[in-house]
Amino acid sequence: MKNEYVDLHCHSTASDGTLTPTELVRYAAKQRLRAFSLTDHDGVDGLDEAIAEGERLGVEVIPGIELSAEHSTGTMHVLGFFVDRKQGKLQEKLKKLQDGRAKRNPQIIKKLQDLGVDITFEEVRAASGGGLIGRPHFAKVLLEKKVVTNMRQAFEKYLKKGAPAYVEKFRFTPEDTIRLIHESGGVAVLAHPFTMYKDNKDVLASEVNKLAKSGLDGVEVYYSTYSSDQSRGYRYLAEENDLLFSGGSDFHGSHKPGIELGVGYGHLRIPYEVVDKLRKRSYQYPVIQ
Ligand code: AMP
Ligand code: ZN
Ligand code: FE
Ligand code: FE
Repeated sequence: MKNEYVDLHCHSTASDGTLTPTELVRYAAKQRLRAFSLTDHDGVDGLDEAIAEGERLGVEVIPGIELSAEHSTGTMHVLGFFVDRKQGKLQEKLKKLQDGRAKRNPQIIKKLQDLGVDITFEEVRAASGGGLIGRPHFAKVLLEKKVVTNMRQAFEKYLKKGAPAYVEKFRFTPEDTIRLIHESGGVAVLAHPFTMYKDNKDVLASEVNKLAKSGLDGVEVYYSTYSSDQSRGYRYLAEENDLLFSGGSDFHGSHKPGIELGVGYGHLRIPYEVVDKLRKRSYQYPVIQ
């Protein structure tokens, strides 16, 4: 028997996760999830495989994506659910984001080498397994070479915003990102809002209000690392702005140790009703061909 829970945020080998789309769907079935969404960074290449396996196993796979958007102080990620992965403009804009990564990756290597780290782009490409390359792949190589002792340290010491090997990559504005998701028939959800401003509640509240006016549909109010107060605060923020709830574990396999699909660090429970509401909202956005 399936339970009534879902997971609407996870990554496969098509971006910076360590399980293939097929393995993820099998894992979702094992966790008895009713639905899950594959939300790879800046790409939709894993979706066909995940949807096909979902049909075989009776798990509802919601086509998703996680897009990085321009943000001055922190990191802003926007999740898109129910996107039409074949839509032309989406494909075209994703290519731009992927080109931006291709430009950034050798610059990160150069910075690391200048810092005296023995690392090559080929090693990072090999760690990525052929999918999109993200910072966790650099972190994995640093870990394998014992330059750091865990993934977190790789980000703290080298890769996070402001650290010595950080390099900006091309991103669209939040408004353009939301529009792109809508034009491909999807709903736009602000992922893990704390990465934008840490815990500056007032600034976050005014930014979310602005995003709501630009068409944002929802907020990720359930997430692996949230405390119950944090989750409550984001639910309040969502309701204040007439935004829907969403939630997911941000499962990345061994790139984020300790997180399990569906349950995060153990306590995450995301009810199926969020899927129904997000789906219903998506009907407002016909696919623009
Ligand atoms: P990228 O899209 O290549 O810039 O990499 C972003 C990914 O790196 C995120 O989705 C996380 O998986 C991971 N990440 C970013 N910041 C950190 C951090 N401080 N600690 C651990 N992982 C992080
Ligand atoms: Zn990631
Ligand atoms: Fe994210
Ligand atoms: Fe993510």
